[in-house]
This record gives sequence, structure tokens and C-alpha cells, in this order.
Amino acid sequence: MAYKNVTVAGSGVLGYQIAFQTAFHGFNVTVYDINDEVLEKAKAKFAELSEAFQTDLNATPEQLDKTFKNLNYTSDLKASVKDADLMIEAVPENPTIKIDFYKKLAKVAPEKTIFVTNSSTLLPSQFAHATGRPSQFLALHFANNIWKHNTAEIMGHPTTDTKVFDDVVAFAKAIGMLALPLHKEQPGYILNTLLVPLLRAGLELLIKGVAEPETIDKTWMKATGAPIGPIAILDTVGITTAYNIYKLSAEKTKNPDAIKTIKYLKENFIDKNKLGVSTGEGFYKY
Ligand code: NAD
Repeated sequence: MAYKNVTVAGSGVLGYQIAFQTAFHGFNVTVYDINDEVLEKAKAKFAELSEAFQTDLNATPEQLDKTFKNLNYTSDLKASVKDADLMIEAVPENPTIKIDFYKKLAKVAPEKTIFVTNSSTLLPSQFAHATGRPSQFLALHFANNIWKHNTAEIMGHPTTDTKVFDDVVAFAKAIGMLALPLHKEQPGYILNTLLVPLLRAGLELLIKGVAEPETIDKTWMKATGAPIGPIAILDTVGITTAYNIYKLSAEKTKNPDAIKTIKYLKENFIDKNKLGVSTGEGFYKY
């Protein structure tokens, strides 16, 4: 394995999961975030996550003990990457924040450090220049609840070094992920390229009054063998996220069906705080 020391930048929803998963698999992990207060919150979340590892993966107290010993914390960017082989960026999905972060990082990271972004919707070529090391930069995209939904989509940009790409594939496997290499840049990777249109189609059937949520989901599940249908997936992902994605595309395309969809989601779900599984009710009750 080419890497030993891994830095995870950003300890939010995804960053703390990536850090814990990596430490669990024996890597020396440094968690970086903007200040010590945020890092304290991350430490509290690690304690919760260790319970999920026990329940879902039968992790032993010894394994979890080692995991915590593998975790280090700092809000000093230069110190966070001092001896890093790999830096995983999970800072907010905002191009200005990411570019600013990479510019600062480029000045302090050792030459050997490989950078990967966990961005869900932005392409690595957008940040390659700011990293100062385009050939050592690519995307490593995880899904939420990574210890259970353990997909890792690996996607380079046109000048990513192939050895670096292969090393990141090997790293993803080494931390228990199903490594999914992409041959070229694709907005939304594989998963969201497939999922977003499916969920949109499910919603359109509902809004047009073609069928009930249960009927739509049953059709998809029975006919394809899928364990869950598009409407139930919307509740799991969260209706706010779906609303934000469709709002962006409606604003861009001005498509009347897309505008109808966001109006429907806002009036029936967002305004009523029915946001899916997280609030106990969305299209279904939980
Ligand atoms: P989040 O907002 O929960 O966390 C972002 C973290 O970055 C926070 O801890 C914040 O303090 C920190 N941060 C802010 N500015 C920073 C800076 N300049 N330097 C370092 N840290 C900084 O976001 P998230 O949901 O964890 O998303 C992070 C990235 O992961 C995004 O690119 C997102 O697209 C991607 N992602 C998210 C999910 C998801 O389900 N939430 C899934 C896959 C990928």
C-alpha cells in the first residue's frame, strides 16, 4: 500500500465518516477543520459512530480502541499535512471555498501528498489548477453512511497520473470500500447519473396523478428485484436534497414540468417539515 498517513480535511457529515473508516482500517489519520470548536464536535460524533460500527459491523472494543488511537486532530493546515501521503478533501460543496482551500493547501503540503476530492457534483478538472499538482489530483467519492453503503467512485481528470489513480483504487479497497473506477469525468459519477433521472421520473408519475407512491415503488421493486423504490429513496436521501437539486435544474432549464415539481415539493413537504425519514414523515410515515 502506497499510503500510511492520511489527512481528512473537513469533519462534517461525510468527512468524519471517512476519517473513522480510514482509521478503523489501520491508517494513521489526521482530521483537519477550520477551528478547534468544530473538531470537538467531530470527536463527539466519532463516539456515536463507534456504536454504529459495533452494531452494523460487529466491531470489537479492541478494534475501536485502535481506531481512536489512529485519530489525530488539528486546525493548523500545515501541521495537518506535514507527513501526509494522501489528503482527502471533504470541505463544503462550494467552488469558492474549495478553490481557496486548495490554493492554501498547495503552499504547505509536501510534494509527495496526493489530493483527492469527495465532491458530489463538481468535477476535479475544475480544481486541478488550484491544487498546484494536477497529475496528483482526482476524485474519490463516497456515499453517506460509508461503513454500510461502501461505494467509492474513483474519477480522474484528463491529466491525472495513471499510477496515482491505481494507488487510490488500492487505497479504497484497503479501507473496505467497493472501488468503482470511472474512465472519464462525468458529472454525478455513475450513481447520481443513474439515480437522479429515476427519482425525477418517480416524482413526475406522482405529480401527474398516474399512481400512488406504493404502486410506483412496488412496480420498480418487483419488476427489477430492487429492494426499494424511487419514492422511498427520496424519503431516505431527504426531500430537501432532492428539492435543491431539482430547483437548480428548474432555474437553468425553465422547463414547466421541472417548475411544477419544485412547487409541489415545496408546498407539500418542505413547508410542512415533512422531509423524509429524518423527520419521521415524507411520502411515507416512519
Ligand atoms: P458539511 O457541511 O457537513 O461539512 C463540511 C466541513 O468542512 C465542516 O466541518 C466545515 O467546518 C468544514 N470546512 C468549512 N470550510 C473549510 C475550510 N476552508 N477548510 C477545511 N474545512 C472546512 O459537508 P458534507 O456534507 O460533509 O460535504 C463535504 C463534501 O462531501 C462535499 O463536497 C459534498 O459534496 C461531499 N459529499 C457529501 C455527501 C453527503 O451525503 N453529505 C455525500 C457524498 C459526498
